[in-house]
Amino acid sequence: MQVSQILHQKGREVVSLTADASLSEAAQLLSRRRIGAVVITEAGELAGILSERDVVRALAADGAGALARPCSAYMTGAVATCTQENAVEALLAMMTQGRFRHVPVLDGSGRLCGLVSIGDVVKMQIEQILAEAANLRHYIGSAG
Ligand code: AMP
Repeated sequence: MQVSQILHQKGREVVSLTADASLSEAAQLLSRRRIGAVVITEAGELAGILSERDVVRALAADGAGALARPCSAYMTGAVATCTQENAVEALLAMMTQGRFRHVPVLDGSGRLCGLVSIGDVVKMQIEQILAEAANLRHYIGSAG
């Protein structure tokens, strides 16, 4: 299974903020959109990723003052990305090894074209397993 199949199902919207947006804006966006991470852009390019975990770390390190500081102060700049052609299994290995739950997807020109979360991967895999089980039941039922 390829990453493109997940995007086909969930859509290609990437929720993003610019690097100078405040941590408070990021927290409000994560809450409003019910998501776990936001992509950070600078001059239209991918500059980082900021997840709810970064918000917690920022508050633990700098207290409430962190909320007025820019996302660039707390985001992860070295973002692991994938392409639509990557296998979902490889994506899962990347997430497990890197200990993160979100991976932005880039197209052939290096532009953002989606974001996959570990929740999307698990949902897709469960659907696949259920479909395979139904096919097997049908096969066994029609064999006799
Ligand atoms: P998450 O598990 O996605 O909430 O993220 C845990 C930590 O990994 C946070 O510090 C994120 O900024 C960072 N992170 C999330 N996604 C990625 C990614 N694709 N590449 C690199 N770091 C990431």
